[in-house]
Amino acid sequence: MTALSLDRSTLDMRRGACPALSAPMMTGDGLLARVALTDAITPTQLAELCRLARRHGNGILDISARGNLQVRGLSGTSAPLLDAEIRALNLPLRDGLAVETPPLAGVDATEIADPRPIAEAIRQAAREIVGLAPKMSVVVDGGGQLRLSDLLADIRLVAISNEEGMRWKLLLGDTEATGRVFNVLRETDAISATLELLRKLAVMGTRARGRDLAAGLPKNNGVNHAASPFDTFHVSNNLFAAGIGPAFGQAKAEDLIALCDEAERLGIQSLKPAFDHSLLFFAAQTACEALTAFAGGNGFVTSPSDPRSAIAACSGSPACNSATIATHELAAKAAEDCGDLLDGSFKLHVTGCPKGCAHPEPSALAFCGTTAGLSLITQGKAADEPFASVAFADTNNSLRRIADLVRNERQTGENSAACLARLGPRRLAAAVMSGRP
Ligand code: SF4
Repeated sequence: MTALSLDRSTLDMRRGACPALSAPMMTGDGLLARVALTDAITPTQLAELCRLARRHGNGILDISARGNLQVRGLSGTSAPLLDAEIRALNLPLRDGLAVETPPLAGVDATEIADPRPIAEAIRQAAREIVGLAPKMSVVVDGGGQLRLSDLLADIRLVAISNEEGMRWKLLLGDTEATGRVFNVLRETDAISATLELLRKLAVMGTRARGRDLAAGLPKNNGVNHAASPFDTFHVSNNLFAAGIGPAFGQAKAEDLIALCDEAERLGIQSLKPAFDHSLLFFAAQTACEALTAFAGGNGFVTSPSDPRSAIAACSGSPACNSATIATHELAAKAAEDCGDLLDGSFKLHVTGCPKGCAHPEPSALAFCGTTAGLSLITQGKAADEPFASVAFADTNNSLRRIADLVRNERQTGENSAACLARLGPRRLAAAVMSGRP
């Protein structure tokens, strides 16, 4: 982009619109630009990007649930400057259709197949296809230690080994567990089938999504819950990966710069933003462990047992002008008070409005801000029918009552997700309303 300011036609103000580097989206704290990468970058490059976020925006960055970097607080004048200066960094920026692969793709000794060549073939060929939904996404998952099973995808290719050898299972819509099985194919057929489905969706218009082609297809019985990226992974030979993330997916530029400086100091040369609001740093085991210790001491999430990693919270108030609650405050309180409820078996969804940006899938428990207070939803999305509505002042008590109920009612070997599902909306509502679990 060469213009030094953006007019309203350039700015995408629609709710549900997809922000991009050159098409930022308006939010409560200004314009939001997304930086989507197709490959690893160096800590120096991320630190430079953070400096640009500070210079042109408000110095706050998000790492999204899908692993995109987002720069917040831009103005109509500063957004094009950020665009130009980020492009000058020569990062592996993604253009066009989102075709996503797991963060350890191609280096993970345990994966069934390297998904990157297929992803690249689809990405290239899809450039010709116009008229797809702005948020259309294709996931190509070769298996391995870190899977994209929980991310929604219009089209998902999952590597499987069966008696005939290695094949790609093509699923339509939803997560891996709930997507519909379209076919099981060899590599070249999987690419052409994906492109054919994309062409079909383009003809159906920009509102058409993968699930619209899934009628009558059988449900997949895939993985229910992907492993957390907040851990240290032995990737292959001497290569390890350390998963580190800012609390609730949002960080100050200076905190990320300090983390990148430390990574540099430890000789770490490669990192990838990844799903679940994480950054994966690649290095030898000792460097990964040293960086994890530094990050943990500086407020980052570094372990799957950190209750903050079991919460999906959107930006909330004041960053987003649709928000009615300070989601991060509520989420921090929940992590502090309800560690045993947040056992990693589900994501507590804390959302500033029913749009539910942070967790588009249903959750075992969601807290949604409304103009009157808070809606509490179980086994649903933020916009679904609540089992209870409480005043703002009663928020913390309500959460504690639910945590107490689950603690008292949990059966041997039962995790929180299973317990919440068994208790159901009536028991949960009774606990919240009576105050007596
Ligand atoms: S879900 Fe959160 S971030 Fe998304 S529009 Fe609503 S308040 Fe804003």
